[in-house]
Formats: sequence, structure tokens, C-alpha cells
Amino acid sequence: MASAVSAPADAVVKPDYTRAGKHFIFNEEHEALRESIASFVERELKPHADEWEETTFPDWVFARMGELGFLGLSYPEEYGGQGGDYYASLVLAEEMAKADSGGLGMGVAVHTDMATPPIHIFGTEEQKQRYLVPSIKGQKIASLGITEPDAGSDVSGLKTRAVRDGDEWVINGSKTYITNGHRADYIVLVVKTDPDAGYDGFSLFIVDTDTPGFVREQKLEKLGMHASDTALLAFSDVRVPHDALLGQEGKGFYHIMWELQGERLIGAAGCVAGAQRAFDKTLAYAGERQAFGRSIGKFQVTRHKFAEMATKIESARQMVYTTAWRFHNGEYPVREISMAKLHASRIAVEVADECIQIHGGAGYMKEYGIERIWRDLRLNRIGAGTDEIMLDVIGRSYGL
Ligand SMILES: Cc1cc2nc3c(=O)[nH]c(=O)nc-3n(C[C@H](O)[C@H](O)[C@H](O)COP(=O)(O)OP(=O)(O)OC[C@H]3O[C@@H](n4cnc5c(N)ncnc54)[C@H](O)[C@@H]3O)c2cc1C
Repeated sequence: MASAVSAPADAVVKPDYTRAGKHFIFNEEHEALRESIASFVERELKPHADEWEETTFPDWVFARMGELGFLGLSYPEEYGGQGGDYYASLVLAEEMAKADSGGLGMGVAVHTDMATPPIHIFGTEEQKQRYLVPSIKGQKIASLGITEPDAGSDVSGLKTRAVRDGDEWVINGSKTYITNGHRADYIVLVVKTDPDAGYDGFSLFIVDTDTPGFVREQKLEKLGMHASDTALLAFSDVRVPHDALLGQEGKGFYHIMWELQGERLIGAAGCVAGAQRAFDKTLAYAGERQAFGRSIGKFQVTRHKFAEMATKIESARQMVYTTAWRFHNGEYPVREISMAKLHASRIAVEVADECIQIHGGAGYMKEYGIERIWRDLRLNRIGAGTDEIMLDVIGRSYGL
């Protein structure tokens, strides 16, 4: 069939809205991966979504996903990964949204795309064998500790200290809002190693959670993401060997800023997928729900709401994919990642909110799952860097 751009002048070209177009960043392998993750999510995760809201999701999810090869999609085969590219991680983030459990998607993403990438990039061979390999198999669960009770956005204000003592480091301090904090076997920790060195005074450590002095203080209750566990952690004279240092001593701030770029883009992809999920559910509902003798989707006002939402979702999707393309091709597009993260988080919350509105009272009820999507997506305007911090990064990138 002639494409629309090359059609002869006398051809009748009509749009086919039922065609699911593949974006150019994805190839056939990505699409096959998408299908296989989607089928796993549909059969093995989604049926438990309601239950896991009450209990948090069980650890077997990691073991099972490790067995299926989903925890190391973009890691090299020599460490048990699938040797795929960054786009494979996007596919995972997008498909996990179909489990209808934001907390589950977040718990898995923290493991695959937040805590383990620094080990892959900055870790020694011994650290990769000890932590990355079992994490890819789903035998060890990872968490990432940046935020503290007195410092979140202001990473330079972190107070948790590691002090050298012979061949060991002694860590004291606390971390909060730590996803997977209760179930994790280890935590990738950002600490201050030289309080007088400014941005060059931070380092990363990998700390086993069974080390004496590591305390899980509190399981935190939250608005959404109920299927994930969120911890307040304390470190009281936690002694770790010198080889627990991850990456270069004094370069932890830069290491974690690098980590945050990948995390933000994956989060943005999750936002687009979450918004699409809300949209799809709501579109189905609008076709069924009757009012004043017609389905509510037939009111022009509702049709336009869908048009607005679809346009927002598509704009965010294009930003995520184009930025992912830059990242994949070796750029370090901090400005564009910040823009994608900001825009995707905002539109996701707007879309979810509009979907509640279109559902009417049903949108407020748990049964329809729309309120959960809204609660879960709301985190994205805060986590991994707030909207305000994204705006500041973007604004500063223009020399302001
Ligand atoms: C459910 C959940 C899971 C999380 N998981 C993890 C995790 O696994 N690991 C981890 O390390 N962290 C995690 N976080 C923490 C998250 O990244 C932080 O909450 C976030 O970075 C914001 O930090 P804060 O909460 O300390 O807010 P604050 O920094 O106290 O900010 C409060 C307000 O002030 C604004 N503000 C701050 N600085 C500026 C500025 N310079 N200009 C303008 N406005 C500003 C913020 O935008 C915000 O509106 C999680 C948080 C939640 C809620």
C-alpha cells in the first residue's frame, strides 16, 4: 500500500485509527519483548493488584521476573542480563503500568533502573558479581537511599556520614521514604565522606541490610503506591569494609546525579503509560455509561476532554521517546530529561484527574480503579525530583 506521503494524486487516502503504530525507536525485538511482558503482567501480576494494595506485593515477584529475564533487560549477558538497550527498560516501565498497581511498578523500577545502574556503571567486578548478578536473577532485592528526614530536594544538605576507620567505614545517620526499604537485601547509599569538600564530599556505599546497626525504624503509610513498601531507616555505627565504597570516593554526588537522569526518564515513561491506562479505561466507560439517552462519550464536552487528554499523552510520549533516543545515542540530555519528567508527571496527574471526572461518582469508588491510578501517579510530581526542582534545573540550564 502506498504511504500517505507518497500516494498518487488521484488516490483516496484515509486515516486508519485502529492501527497501533510502532514508534521508530522500537524494533521488532522490542515489540516481541513488549508482548511477552504484557502477557506475564496480565496473567501473573494484574490478578493480584487489589490484594497487594492491602499487603504490599510479595518478594516472589522479583524471583519470578528474574527467572523470566525481565530484571536485567539492558544489562550485559556476562552478568546474566539480556544485553538489550535502554529502550528495553522503557518497554518494561510501560508494560508494568498495565498491572494496575503503581506501587508494584515502582518497587520493580527502583530495583532495575535506580539502585542497580550505579553498580553496573561504577561498581568493581567483585561488586557486580556480589550484587548485580543476584539482583538480575531476582535473588537479591535492591533499594536506593538518597532522601533524609532533613534533606530531600537539597541533596547537598544530606547529613548521613561515613567516617574512615582503618580498613572500614563507620556510617551514622538516617534515610527516609526508601522504596523497598523493608524487603531489600542491600541499599545503595549516598553519604557524606568529607563535610568540608562541598559537592566533592559525597560518596556511595553498598550496605547489606543485615549489617549490625542497620535499623528499619518504621513502615510509612502513604496516599498511594500502597503495594510498595516505604521505609524510614537508621544507621547506627554501621561498619562496612572499604570495598563497600561504590565508585570514586568524593564523587558520589555526581554519580547519583547521573543515576537520577535514567530514573527520571523511566519515571516519565511510567507516567505516560499510567495516563494511557487511565485514558483507555475511561474511554471504555464513556462508551457504556448512559445519561440523557446517550452514552456520555457522545457529548461533545466529553469528546473534547478525550481529545485534550490524548494530545497531552502523545506530547509527553514524544518527549520521552525523543529524549530516550538522545540518551541511547550517547548524549547526556539533562535539560530534556528534566522537561520530559516535568511534563509527563504533570499531564499524568491532569489526565487521571479528568478520568475521575468523566467517571462521575464511579471515579471516586475503589471498584473502578481510577482513583488508585490518580493516587499512584500523584507521587511523580514529587519523587525523583519535584516539579519545582525540574523547573530549576531547566531554568539554570539557560545560564539563569
Ligand atoms: C512514596 C515515595 C517513595 C520514595 N522513594 C524514594 C527512594 O526509594 N529513595 C530515595 O532516596 N527517596 C525516595 N523518595 C523521596 C523523594 O525523592 C523526595 O520526597 C523528593 O525528592 C522531595 O524531597 P522532600 O520530600 O524532602 O521535599 P522537600 O525537599 O522538603 O521539598 C518540599 C517543597 O519545597 C520545594 N522546594 C525545595 N527546594 C526548592 C527550590 N530550590 N526551589 C523551589 N522549590 C523548592 C519542593 O519542590 C517541594 O514542593 C520517595 C518519596 C516518596 C513520597
